[in-house]
Amino acid sequence: MSKTMIYADHAATTVLSPTAYTAMQPWLKDKYGNPSTLYSLAREPRKAVASARETIAACIGAKPKEIYFTSGGTEADNWALTGMAFQYPNQRGRIVTSCIEHHAVLHTCDFLDRMGYGIDLLPVNRDGAVSSSMLEDHLQDDAILVSVMLANNEIGTIQPIRELAKIAHCHHCLFHTDAVQGVGHIPIDVRELGVDMLSASAHKFNGPKGCGFLYVREGISIEPFMHGGAQEHGHRAGTENVAGIVGMAAALEEHQKQLAQEMTYLHKLADTLLGHLRETDLDFIVNGSAERIPGSLSLSFRNADGEMLLHRLDLMGTAVATGSACDSKDAVLSHVIRAIGVPNEYKHGTVRITLGMDNSEKDVQSIAEQIVHIPVSYTHLTL
Ligand code: PLP
Repeated sequence: MSKTMIYADHAATTVLSPTAYTAMQPWLKDKYGNPSTLYSLAREPRKAVASARETIAACIGAKPKEIYFTSGGTEADNWALTGMAFQYPNQRGRIVTSCIEHHAVLHTCDFLDRMGYGIDLLPVNRDGAVSSSMLEDHLQDDAILVSVMLANNEIGTIQPIRELAKIAHCHHCLFHTDAVQGVGHIPIDVRELGVDMLSASAHKFNGPKGCGFLYVREGISIEPFMHGGAQEHGHRAGTENVAGIVGMAAALEEHQKQLAQEMTYLHKLADTLLGHLRETDLDFIVNGSAERIPGSLSLSFRNADGEMLLHRLDLMGTAVATGSACDSKDAVLSHVIRAIGVPNEYKHGTVRITLGMDNSEKDVQSIAEQIVHIPVSYTHLTL
Protein backbone atom coordinates (compact mmCIF):
# COMPACT_ATOMS: atom_id res chain seq x y z
CA MET A 1 0.00 0.00 0.00
CA SER A 2 1.29 3.47 -0.85
CA LYS A 3 2.21 5.83 1.97
CA THR A 4 -0.53 8.26 1.03
CA MET A 5 -3.23 5.59 1.32
CA ILE A 6 -5.49 5.92 4.35
CA TYR A 7 -6.15 2.47 5.78
CA ALA A 8 -9.49 2.47 7.62
CA ASP A 9 -10.36 -1.23 7.59
CA HIS A 10 -8.73 -2.41 10.82
CA ALA A 11 -11.56 -4.86 11.51
CA ALA A 12 -10.45 -6.77 8.40
CA THR A 13 -6.81 -6.95 9.40
CA THR A 14 -4.03 -4.84 10.89
CA VAL A 15 -0.40 -4.20 10.05
CA LEU A 16 2.16 -6.32 11.91
CA SER A 17 3.58 -4.26 14.78
CA PRO A 18 7.35 -3.64 14.70
CA THR A 19 7.57 -5.21 18.18
CA ALA A 20 5.90 -8.40 16.97
CA TYR A 21 8.02 -8.43 13.81
CA THR A 22 11.24 -8.16 15.80
CA ALA A 23 10.10 -10.81 18.28
CA MET A 24 9.32 -13.24 15.42
CA GLN A 25 12.57 -12.98 13.52
CA PRO A 26 14.83 -15.39 15.46
CA TRP A 27 12.23 -18.15 15.20
CA LEU A 28 11.96 -17.84 11.43
CA LYS A 29 15.61 -18.58 10.72
CA ASP A 30 18.28 -19.19 13.33
CA LYS A 31 16.24 -20.81 16.08
CA TYR A 32 14.42 -23.24 13.86
CA GLY A 33 14.29 -26.28 16.16
CA ASN A 34 11.07 -28.27 16.42
CA PRO A 35 9.72 -27.69 19.97
CA SER A 36 8.73 -31.37 20.23
CA THR A 37 12.26 -32.75 19.81
CA LEU A 38 14.66 -33.50 22.65
CA TYR A 39 18.01 -31.92 21.76
CA SER A 40 19.17 -28.47 22.81
CA LEU A 41 18.12 -26.75 19.53
CA ALA A 42 14.52 -27.46 20.51
CA ARG A 43 14.77 -26.14 24.03
CA GLU A 44 14.60 -22.45 23.15
CA PRO A 45 11.60 -22.71 20.80
CA ARG A 46 9.83 -24.86 23.39
CA LYS A 47 10.48 -22.20 26.03
CA ALA A 48 9.37 -19.46 23.66
CA VAL A 49 6.02 -21.19 23.03
CA ALA A 50 5.53 -21.74 26.77
CA SER A 51 6.37 -18.13 27.52
CA ALA A 52 3.96 -16.89 24.81
CA ARG A 53 1.24 -19.07 26.34
CA GLU A 54 1.88 -17.43 29.74
CA THR A 55 1.81 -13.94 28.26
CA ILE A 56 -1.44 -14.52 26.39
CA ALA A 57 -3.07 -16.18 29.39
CA ALA A 58 -2.09 -13.22 31.61
CA CYS A 59 -3.59 -10.76 29.09
CA ILE A 60 -7.06 -12.35 29.36
CA GLY A 61 -7.02 -13.51 33.00
CA ALA A 62 -6.59 -17.20 32.13
CA LYS A 63 -4.17 -19.95 33.12
CA PRO A 64 -1.50 -20.95 30.56
CA LYS A 65 -2.91 -24.47 30.31
CA GLU A 66 -6.27 -23.01 29.25
CA ILE A 67 -4.77 -21.53 26.05
CA TYR A 68 -4.71 -23.63 22.85
CA PHE A 69 -2.93 -22.17 19.84
CA THR A 70 -4.78 -22.34 16.51
CA SER A 71 -4.34 -21.11 12.94
CA GLY A 72 -6.64 -18.14 13.64
CA GLY A 73 -10.13 -17.10 14.61
CA THR A 74 -11.92 -19.31 12.10
CA GLU A 75 -10.26 -22.44 13.44
CA ALA A 76 -10.89 -21.41 17.05
CA ASP A 77 -14.60 -20.89 16.31
CA ASN A 78 -14.90 -24.16 14.37
CA TRP A 79 -13.16 -26.02 17.16
CA ALA A 80 -15.21 -24.50 19.99
CA LEU A 81 -18.49 -25.52 18.35
CA THR A 82 -17.60 -28.91 16.87
CA GLY A 83 -15.34 -29.83 19.80
CA MET A 84 -18.22 -29.30 22.21
CA ALA A 85 -20.91 -30.85 19.98
CA PHE A 86 -18.82 -33.98 19.37
CA GLN A 87 -18.67 -34.53 23.12
CA TYR A 88 -22.34 -35.41 22.85
CA PRO A 89 -22.53 -37.52 19.65
CA ASN A 90 -25.53 -39.51 20.79
CA GLN A 91 -27.43 -36.67 22.37
CA ARG A 92 -27.28 -34.32 19.32
CA GLY A 93 -28.26 -31.38 21.55
CA ARG A 94 -28.97 -27.84 20.44
CA ILE A 95 -26.56 -24.99 19.89
CA VAL A 96 -27.89 -21.48 20.41
CA THR A 97 -26.17 -18.63 18.60
CA SER A 98 -27.01 -15.15 17.31
CA CYS A 99 -28.02 -14.37 13.73
CA ILE A 100 -25.21 -11.80 13.39
CA GLU A 101 -22.25 -14.08 14.15
CA HIS A 102 -19.28 -14.27 11.82
CA HIS A 103 -19.59 -16.99 9.18
CA ALA A 104 -16.90 -18.96 11.04
CA VAL A 105 -19.65 -19.63 13.60
CA LEU A 106 -22.73 -19.58 11.37
CA HIS A 107 -21.33 -21.95 8.74
CA THR A 108 -20.05 -24.31 11.44
CA CYS A 109 -23.60 -24.31 12.78
CA ASP A 110 -24.87 -25.18 9.27
CA PHE A 111 -22.44 -28.11 9.26
CA LEU A 112 -23.60 -29.27 12.69
CA ASP A 113 -27.20 -28.89 11.56
CA ARG A 114 -26.47 -31.30 8.68
CA MET A 115 -24.91 -33.66 11.25
CA GLY A 116 -28.21 -33.76 13.12
CA TYR A 117 -27.59 -31.19 15.87
CA GLY A 118 -30.27 -28.57 16.51
CA ILE A 119 -29.41 -24.92 15.86
CA ASP A 120 -31.31 -21.94 17.27
CA LEU A 121 -30.59 -18.48 15.93
CA LEU A 122 -31.20 -15.61 18.33
CA PRO A 123 -32.57 -12.37 16.87
CA VAL A 124 -30.93 -9.05 17.72
CA ASN A 125 -32.42 -5.63 18.39
CA ARG A 126 -31.94 -2.54 16.18
CA ASP A 127 -28.52 -1.95 17.84
CA GLY A 128 -27.41 -5.48 17.05
CA ALA A 129 -27.54 -6.57 20.69
CA VAL A 130 -28.78 -9.91 22.05
CA SER A 131 -30.90 -9.35 25.15
CA SER A 132 -30.99 -11.61 28.20
CA SER A 133 -34.72 -12.17 27.71
CA MET A 134 -34.22 -13.28 24.10
CA LEU A 135 -31.71 -15.86 25.28
CA GLU A 136 -33.99 -17.03 28.12
CA ASP A 137 -36.81 -17.51 25.59
CA HIS A 138 -34.66 -19.61 23.28
CA LEU A 139 -32.98 -21.91 25.78
CA GLN A 140 -34.59 -25.31 25.68
CA ASP A 141 -33.74 -28.30 27.86
CA ASP A 142 -31.61 -29.99 25.21
CA ALA A 143 -29.33 -26.96 24.60
CA ILE A 144 -25.65 -27.84 25.12
CA LEU A 145 -23.87 -24.66 24.06
CA VAL A 146 -24.54 -20.95 23.63
CA SER A 147 -22.18 -19.02 21.34
CA VAL A 148 -22.53 -15.23 21.14
CA MET A 149 -19.80 -12.98 19.79
CA LEU A 150 -18.21 -10.45 22.11
CA ALA A 151 -18.20 -7.71 19.47
CA ASN A 152 -19.62 -7.67 15.97
CA ASN A 153 -17.20 -7.29 13.09
CA GLU A 154 -19.54 -5.15 10.95
CA ILE A 155 -21.20 -2.78 13.38
CA GLY A 156 -18.88 -3.05 16.42
CA THR A 157 -21.70 -3.69 18.92
CA ILE A 158 -20.40 -5.15 22.20
CA GLN A 159 -22.70 -7.82 23.63
CA PRO A 160 -23.64 -8.18 27.34
CA ILE A 161 -21.54 -11.36 27.54
CA ARG A 162 -21.43 -11.63 31.34
CA GLU A 163 -25.24 -11.63 31.61
CA LEU A 164 -25.66 -14.03 28.70
CA ALA A 165 -23.07 -16.48 30.08
CA LYS A 166 -24.83 -16.42 33.46
CA ILE A 167 -28.15 -17.32 31.84
CA ALA A 168 -26.55 -20.14 29.83
CA HIS A 169 -25.02 -21.56 33.01
CA CYS A 170 -28.36 -21.38 34.85
CA HIS A 171 -29.67 -23.65 32.08
CA HIS A 172 -26.67 -26.03 32.44
CA CYS A 173 -25.28 -24.88 29.11
CA LEU A 174 -21.70 -23.98 28.30
CA PHE A 175 -20.89 -20.56 26.83
CA HIS A 176 -18.50 -19.68 23.99
CA THR A 177 -17.71 -16.20 22.74
CA ASP A 178 -16.03 -15.23 19.48
CA ALA A 179 -13.86 -12.40 20.79
CA VAL A 180 -11.87 -11.93 17.57
CA GLN A 181 -12.85 -8.24 17.30
CA GLY A 182 -12.45 -7.60 21.01
CA VAL A 183 -9.14 -9.11 22.13
CA GLY A 184 -6.43 -6.43 22.14
CA HIS A 185 -9.03 -3.65 21.80
CA ILE A 186 -11.09 -3.72 24.99
CA PRO A 187 -10.30 -5.16 28.45
CA ILE A 188 -11.11 -8.85 28.58
CA ASP A 189 -10.98 -11.09 31.62
CA VAL A 190 -12.37 -14.57 31.03
CA ARG A 191 -13.17 -15.12 34.72
CA GLU A 192 -15.04 -11.84 35.00
CA LEU A 193 -16.95 -12.58 31.81
CA GLY A 194 -17.69 -16.10 33.04
CA VAL A 195 -17.16 -17.67 29.62
CA ASP A 196 -16.14 -21.30 29.09
CA MET A 197 -14.48 -20.79 25.71
CA LEU A 198 -13.20 -17.73 23.85
CA SER A 199 -11.74 -17.35 20.33
CA ALA A 200 -9.13 -14.81 19.24
CA SER A 201 -7.07 -14.01 16.16
CA ALA A 202 -3.60 -12.40 16.09
CA HIS A 203 -3.93 -10.41 12.86
CA LYS A 204 -6.77 -8.34 14.34
CA PHE A 205 -4.43 -6.89 16.98
CA ASN A 206 -1.25 -6.25 14.93
CA GLY A 207 0.02 -9.80 15.22
CA PRO A 208 0.76 -12.13 12.30
CA LYS A 209 -1.87 -13.68 10.05
CA GLY A 210 -2.66 -17.39 10.40
CA CYS A 211 -2.33 -17.49 14.16
CA GLY A 212 -4.90 -17.39 16.95
CA PHE A 213 -5.98 -19.14 20.09
CA LEU A 214 -8.90 -20.76 21.81
CA TYR A 215 -9.33 -20.37 25.56
CA VAL A 216 -10.98 -23.41 27.13
CA ARG A 217 -11.75 -23.16 30.84
CA GLU A 218 -9.97 -25.72 33.00
CA GLY A 219 -12.24 -28.67 33.66
CA ILE A 220 -14.14 -28.35 30.37
CA SER A 221 -13.76 -31.32 28.10
CA ILE A 222 -13.57 -30.69 24.36
CA GLU A 223 -12.88 -33.10 21.50
CA PRO A 224 -9.44 -32.65 19.88
CA PHE A 225 -9.47 -30.60 16.66
CA MET A 226 -6.57 -32.31 14.92
CA HIS A 227 -5.07 -35.72 15.49
CA GLY A 228 -1.49 -36.85 15.08
CA GLY A 229 0.67 -35.37 17.81
CA ALA A 230 0.92 -34.32 21.43
CA GLN A 231 1.00 -30.56 20.75
CA GLU A 232 -1.53 -28.29 22.48
CA HIS A 233 -2.14 -30.72 25.32
CA GLY A 234 -2.81 -33.48 22.76
CA HIS A 235 -5.81 -31.60 21.39
CA ARG A 236 -4.46 -29.83 18.32
CA ALA A 237 -1.73 -31.83 16.67
CA GLY A 238 0.83 -30.29 14.34
CA THR A 239 4.23 -28.64 14.75
CA GLU A 240 3.71 -25.25 16.34
CA ASN A 241 3.93 -22.00 14.37
CA VAL A 242 6.62 -20.80 16.76
CA ALA A 243 7.27 -17.41 15.12
CA GLY A 244 3.55 -16.74 14.79
CA ILE A 245 2.82 -17.65 18.39
CA VAL A 246 5.69 -15.48 19.68
CA GLY A 247 4.58 -12.58 17.46
CA MET A 248 0.98 -12.92 18.62
CA ALA A 249 2.01 -12.78 22.28
CA ALA A 250 4.24 -9.74 21.69
CA ALA A 251 1.46 -7.90 19.82
CA LEU A 252 -1.17 -8.64 22.45
CA GLU A 253 1.09 -7.65 25.32
CA GLU A 254 1.87 -4.38 23.56
CA HIS A 255 -1.84 -3.53 23.16
CA GLN A 256 -2.57 -4.60 26.72
CA LYS A 257 -0.01 -2.15 28.12
CA GLN A 258 -1.61 0.85 26.43
CA LEU A 259 -5.21 -0.30 26.18
CA ALA A 260 -6.76 2.63 28.07
CA GLN A 261 -4.95 5.26 25.96
CA GLU A 262 -5.74 3.42 22.73
CA MET A 263 -9.43 3.18 23.58
CA THR A 264 -9.65 6.88 24.42
CA TYR A 265 -7.79 7.85 21.23
CA LEU A 266 -9.89 5.68 18.93
CA HIS A 267 -13.24 6.69 20.45
CA LYS A 268 -12.22 10.32 20.00
CA LEU A 269 -11.09 9.76 16.42
CA ALA A 270 -14.40 8.09 15.51
CA ASP A 271 -16.31 10.95 17.19
CA THR A 272 -14.26 13.48 15.24
CA LEU A 273 -15.11 11.74 11.96
CA LEU A 274 -18.79 11.68 12.89
CA GLY A 275 -18.57 15.35 13.84
CA HIS A 276 -17.12 16.25 10.41
CA LEU A 277 -19.82 14.25 8.61
CA ARG A 278 -22.60 15.79 10.71
CA GLU A 279 -21.44 19.27 9.68
CA THR A 280 -22.38 18.40 6.10
CA ASP A 281 -25.84 17.92 4.63
CA LEU A 282 -25.25 14.20 4.12
CA ASP A 283 -28.16 12.07 5.29
CA PHE A 284 -26.86 8.98 7.11
CA ILE A 285 -27.44 6.79 10.14
CA VAL A 286 -24.92 5.24 12.52
CA ASN A 287 -25.41 1.52 13.05
CA GLY A 288 -24.65 -0.46 16.19
CA SER A 289 -25.01 0.29 19.87
CA ALA A 290 -23.43 3.17 21.80
CA GLU A 291 -21.15 0.56 23.36
CA ARG A 292 -18.97 -0.19 20.36
CA ILE A 293 -15.44 -1.33 19.64
CA PRO A 294 -13.26 1.83 19.75
CA GLY A 295 -12.76 3.34 16.30
CA SER A 296 -15.51 1.28 14.69
CA LEU A 297 -18.19 3.04 12.61
CA SER A 298 -20.86 1.50 10.42
CA LEU A 299 -22.61 4.23 8.47
CA SER A 300 -25.58 3.89 6.13
CA PHE A 301 -26.01 6.74 3.65
CA ARG A 302 -29.49 7.45 2.30
CA ASN A 303 -30.05 6.36 -1.31
CA ALA A 304 -26.39 5.46 -1.72
CA ASP A 305 -24.65 2.31 -2.88
CA GLY A 306 -22.11 1.01 -0.36
CA GLU A 307 -20.02 -0.84 -2.91
CA MET A 308 -19.77 2.24 -5.14
CA LEU A 309 -18.79 4.32 -2.11
CA LEU A 310 -16.05 1.79 -1.32
CA HIS A 311 -14.66 1.94 -4.86
CA ARG A 312 -14.84 5.72 -5.06
CA LEU A 313 -13.05 6.02 -1.72
CA ASP A 314 -10.47 3.51 -2.90
CA LEU A 315 -9.80 5.66 -5.99
CA MET A 316 -9.28 8.63 -3.68
CA GLY A 317 -6.84 6.63 -1.54
CA THR A 318 -8.94 5.33 1.37
CA ALA A 319 -9.63 1.68 2.21
CA VAL A 320 -12.95 0.95 3.92
CA ALA A 321 -15.37 -2.01 3.86
CA THR A 322 -19.02 -2.21 2.90
CA GLY A 323 -22.07 -3.94 4.31
CA SER A 324 -23.64 -4.37 0.92
CA ALA A 325 -22.22 -5.65 -2.32
CA CYS A 326 -23.78 -5.12 -5.69
CA ASP A 327 -23.94 -7.34 -8.70
CA SER A 328 -25.57 -6.34 -11.95
CA LYS A 329 -28.97 -7.66 -10.97
CA ASP A 330 -29.18 -7.66 -7.25
CA ALA A 331 -27.93 -5.76 -4.26
CA VAL A 332 -26.60 -8.23 -1.72
CA LEU A 333 -26.94 -7.10 1.86
CA SER A 334 -24.82 -8.51 4.64
CA HIS A 335 -26.69 -10.74 7.11
CA VAL A 336 -25.85 -8.22 9.85
CA ILE A 337 -27.29 -5.17 8.10
CA ARG A 338 -30.36 -7.21 7.26
CA ALA A 339 -30.74 -8.54 10.83
CA ILE A 340 -30.60 -5.13 12.52
CA GLY A 341 -33.27 -3.79 10.18
CA VAL A 342 -31.55 -0.78 8.63
CA PRO A 343 -34.36 1.16 6.86
CA ASN A 344 -34.76 0.42 3.14
CA GLU A 345 -33.60 3.77 1.81
CA TYR A 346 -30.35 3.52 3.84
CA LYS A 347 -29.42 -0.16 3.94
CA HIS A 348 -27.72 -0.38 0.54
CA GLY A 349 -25.51 2.59 1.33
CA THR A 350 -23.60 0.99 4.20
CA VAL A 351 -19.87 1.40 4.70
CA ARG A 352 -17.74 0.19 7.61
CA ILE A 353 -14.92 2.48 8.70
CA THR A 354 -12.68 0.91 11.34
CA LEU A 355 -9.92 3.19 12.57
CA GLY A 356 -6.65 2.14 14.15
CA MET A 357 -3.73 3.66 16.04
CA ASP A 358 -2.03 4.45 12.72
CA ASN A 359 -4.86 6.84 11.79
CA SER A 360 -4.71 10.54 12.61
CA GLU A 361 -7.15 13.46 12.93
CA LYS A 362 -5.97 14.52 9.48
CA ASP A 363 -6.95 11.09 8.12
CA VAL A 364 -10.49 11.33 9.43
CA GLN A 365 -10.86 14.85 8.08
CA SER A 366 -9.73 13.58 4.66
CA ILE A 367 -12.16 10.66 4.83
CA ALA A 368 -15.04 13.03 5.58
CA GLU A 369 -13.99 15.37 2.72
CA GLN A 370 -13.71 12.44 0.32
CA ILE A 371 -17.19 11.16 1.22
CA VAL A 372 -18.65 14.63 0.72
CA HIS A 373 -17.00 14.89 -2.70
CA ILE A 374 -18.41 11.66 -4.05
CA PRO A 375 -21.07 12.81 -6.52
CA VAL A 376 -24.56 11.64 -5.67
CA SER A 377 -24.94 10.25 -9.19
CA TYR A 378 -22.18 7.76 -8.38
CA THR A 379 -23.65 6.73 -5.09
CA HIS A 380 -27.31 6.60 -6.01
CA LEU A 381 -28.64 3.09 -6.28
CA THR A 382 -30.51 2.74 -9.54
CA LEU A 383 -31.49 -0.92 -9.23
N1 PLP B 1 -14.72 -13.96 13.93
C1 PLP B 1 -14.83 -12.64 13.71
C2 PLP B 1 -15.80 -11.83 14.52
C3 PLP B 1 -14.05 -12.03 12.74
O1 PLP B 1 -14.18 -10.72 12.51
C4 PLP B 1 -13.16 -12.83 11.98
C5 PLP B 1 -12.37 -12.24 10.89
O2 PLP B 1 -12.78 -11.30 10.26
C6 PLP B 1 -13.06 -14.20 12.28
C7 PLP B 1 -13.86 -14.73 13.26
C8 PLP B 1 -12.09 -15.09 11.54
O3 PLP B 1 -10.77 -14.86 11.98
P1 PLP B 1 -9.52 -15.31 11.10
O4 PLP B 1 -9.39 -14.32 10.00
O5 PLP B 1 -8.35 -15.26 12.04
O6 PLP B 1 -9.78 -16.70 10.63
